[in-house]
Order: sequence, then C-alpha cells, then structure tokens
Amino acid sequence: MSNKIYLFANWKMYLDYDESNILANAIADKKKSIPKSVKMAIFPSALALYTVGQALRDVGISIGAQNTHWIDKGGYTGEVSAVMYKEAGCQYALVGHSERRHLFHETNHEVRQKIEAILLAGLTPVICVGETEQERQNNKTESAIEIQIRAALQNLVWPKAKPRTEPFYGSGTGNRELIIAYEPVWAIGTGQACDPQEARRMHELIKKQVVALTGVSPIILYGGSVKPENIAQYLKNPNINGVLVGSASANFESWMKIISNI
Ligand code: PEP
Repeated sequence: MSNKIYLFANWKMYLDYDESNILANAIADKKKSIPKSVKMAIFPSALALYTVGQALRDVGISIGAQNTHWIDKGGYTGEVSAVMYKEAGCQYALVGHSERRHLFHETNHEVRQKIEAILLAGLTPVICVGETEQERQNNKTESAIEIQIRAALQNLVWPKAKPRTEPFYGSGTGNRELIIAYEPVWAIGTGQACDPQEARRMHELIKKQVVALTGVSPIILYGGSVKPENIAQYLKNPNINGVLVGSASANFESWMKIISNI
C-alpha cells in the first residue's frame, strides 16, 4: 500500500485553454511548497491536456483524462479513446464520475467497458462510485456502492504486460493499480461534505469488496466538497489515501491552501 497522499484535481469544464495553462504553470512554479509525500494529478479538459502536461512534466505532477471511450479508434464523433490519452501523456483516467453517470446517462456496463480499455491502454483507472441522496435516505447506501463496484470489477481480466510497440494499442503495463474514488453524489459540488467518519466507514467497506473481487488492495480517495477547511479531517483517517477535488482545485489560492493544510 502506498504511503503517498493523493491529491487529484478534477478541473471538469471550469477552465478554458488559457486559464488551464496559467493555472498549471502557477502550480509548477510552486513545486517547492508541495511536500514529497504528495502524489498529485491534474485532470484538465481534453483541449488543454497536452500543454498542461508539458507544464507539469518536469515537476513530477501527472495528468489524467476526465473521460475516455472504450474503442481505440473509429467513427465515434466527439470521443477520445484511452489509448489516445495515453499517447498524450496521461497516467490516469477518471471513469464513472457521477456527472457522467447522471448527466450523460452512463451505465455500469459502459463504465466496465471503459475500465477494461483504460487498463489495456496502460492507464490507471480512477473508478468513481457513490450513492445518491435518495439511496442514502432509503438505507441503500451500501448496496448501491456494492452494485457499482461489482459491475466495475467482477471477473476482471488484467491485461498482460507487453513490450511497447508502435502503435502500442493494447499494451497494458501489467501494473495492477486500482484507484477508487468514493464520491457520494449528494456531496459533489454542493458544499455538503460527507462526515469524515462516515467516509472512513465507506472506505473500509469498499476496500474489503475490491480485495475480495480482485485480490488487489486499492488506493481509495474521498471526493465531494473537499475544501481547505476540511481536507485535514479526511486525511487523518488511515483508510483515506487522498482526495479527488473538483471546484476547489480549479482555483490557485484554494488549491494551494489545500496543499498547505494537509
Ligand atoms: C468531483 O467532481 O469529483 C468533486 C469532488 O467535486 P467538488 O469537489 O466540487 O464537490
């Protein structure tokens, strides 16, 4: 298990091309104030991903895709595949984010197809799971999460490591790294963060299920209204390996405060 603190920044569609590059360069300039224990990754818009990656490459900050398609190449207007993100320098890919599930009606089946393509492309998936407010009120929190995780990971076949060839489609790294982001839907973008003890309980449950299904001990992040004021309460818990942050990561001052408050 990693001793790193994962600080993952989902910039969503908050920043345009220039704003993304300005923020990436500002973060790179502050590299010295980022503790060595932090593993940081930024998920910019697809448009800014390459230049943001260039700005961050030399300071050890990774980049990731916010969404991927499961087919490598073809007539899929508007889509970008996992292998294309890999070629553009990504290390990670978000999959199953609640905004994809709820605003774009992404199903558990599609999430699973994306996870397989992400692994095959040699990226690490950041699999987002979370219950809705209604599920929580109806005491269905645990079962909602279990269903999402089972659909994502049951009988998963890990791609074998192959030497990189050109094109290197389908050359999984053989690296069995899984990141799960526990993101209660009701906590995303609402300012209503999950109680840290409850997040910890959910992380324990998720960990048990992922280990039982895959034999791999996952890195588990909490996401949902993380701010400079509450970050430390989450990271106190040993089962919370880090955070996935939306709005507070797309602003230089609040992201720097989050880093200094860990
Ligand atoms: C997210 O979208 O992954 C997220 C956690 O958003 P926010 O931090 O804005 O709640």
